[in-house]
Amino acid sequence: MNFDTLGLSPALLRALDEQGYTEPTPVQAAAIPVVLAGHDLMAGAQTGTGKTAAFALPLLERLYPEGKRMPLARRPRALILTPTRELAAQVQESVRSYSKHIGVKSATIFGGVGMGPQIDALRRGVDIVVATPGRLLDHMQRRTVDLADIEILVLDEADRMLDMGFLPAMKRVLSALPNQRQTLLFSATFSTEIKALASQFMRSPQEIQIAKPNSVASTVTHRVHPVNMEAKRDLLLHLLSVDGSQTLVFCRTKHGSDKLTKQLEKSGLRAAAIHGNKSQNQRTRALADFKNGRVNVLVATDIAARGLDIDQLPMVINFDLPMVAEDYVHRIGRTGRAGAEGLAISLVCRAEEGLLRDIRKLLNQEIAIENVAGFEPSQPLRLDGPGGGAKPQSGRQQHARRPHAQQPRGNGDHAAANKKRRQWRGKPMASRPS
Ligand code: AMP
Repeated sequence: MNFDTLGLSPALLRALDEQGYTEPTPVQAAAIPVVLAGHDLMAGAQTGTGKTAAFALPLLERLYPEGKRMPLARRPRALILTPTRELAAQVQESVRSYSKHIGVKSATIFGGVGMGPQIDALRRGVDIVVATPGRLLDHMQRRTVDLADIEILVLDEADRMLDMGFLPAMKRVLSALPNQRQTLLFSATFSTEIKALASQFMRSPQEIQIAKPNSVASTVTHRVHPVNMEAKRDLLLHLLSVDGSQTLVFCRTKHGSDKLTKQLEKSGLRAAAIHGNKSQNQRTRALADFKNGRVNVLVATDIAARGLDIDQLPMVINFDLPMVAEDYVHRIGRTGRAGAEGLAISLVCRAEEGLLRDIRKLLNQEIAIENVAGFEPSQPLRLDGPGGGAKPQSGRQQHARRPHAQQPRGNGDHAAANKKRRQWRGKPMASRPS
């Protein structure tokens, strides 16, 4: 497939050609016709899939049919909301390059810089505003921006905006927009919060989902420890005392992660929790403490952990399995990066058998099932799926899945990474930098 079958005007095609884009990426091929037909759109696509062009190209085509230049708008006609200023700048840069033969005026509106130049740009008139929600709200309150003419709204990385606590600001922005508009929502994942937002602010959106790349590195060892629910905490403490690596622990709920963090602290571990009820400041501090070693165990919920950028994390422990198998991939994607060895441990009780089966289906990698002495569950896990009947565990180890297409292990980077991992392991908790 190439771009000229998608219904874009020559002015845009020329710009794409100059960018060196020869064919649309999957998200572009799926999204462009839907947006051009005027539908609202919910697209599941991560950074790196070409999602910016997937919304920017049809947005430009709808605002400037056939690439026709328009008199400069007095008020902006399109609004693109992004979670961060970096992304806002990047999106504006893309819009600028795709629209270079149309001549479109755009402005970025984000915090951390003076309001003055933004006010001036808005006063002079812009067609497209790319903004972060908080600063845009400031402008709305000062009446330095008027969103009454917005025809198209894009929520880019909607899940990240929610993670960053922008929901109230987003709702206020959304409520200020004309009802007659087209709304495009791009998100790596669709949590219940995102779905609620969509049902409140979108009109029968069409949905597209671009398959997520399986981001679990082949250098990660997966291990399941069957355990009774009530013994999970003690098993976690046992594992953390044996392996002193910096560890990210996943819990399903905010309350659960708070409770667990307190229990870990009581046992003398340096732990911090990171979840949606924590302020941005608290989250930033917890992450910084974890990165610099002041905290050894970071207890996180899935939502809060998304986007956490932690290099070379040696160990991730799932205290609870995620409700959605894809989240396992997200969680484990934090270890085994850049060729380093990683360890992914899941504490699985009987109530989670179904979730483990889903994960096995999704994952193309071996998961070893290992009982830990002293923590054996009262009944073994049944892993052969509904109808398959219980399969008793024989011996200490049982493989949850045969390795289908196991990647070759080991490369030049491993040695260094392993050394780093051993260094972490070697240090007792108390002697870590504080
Ligand atoms: P994004 O997911 O929007 O951040 O895009 C990721 C990268 O892919 C950016 O550097 C884009 O310039 C590039 N890109 C987007 N669409 C295409 C395409 N159809 N062909 C080649 N590169 C592309």
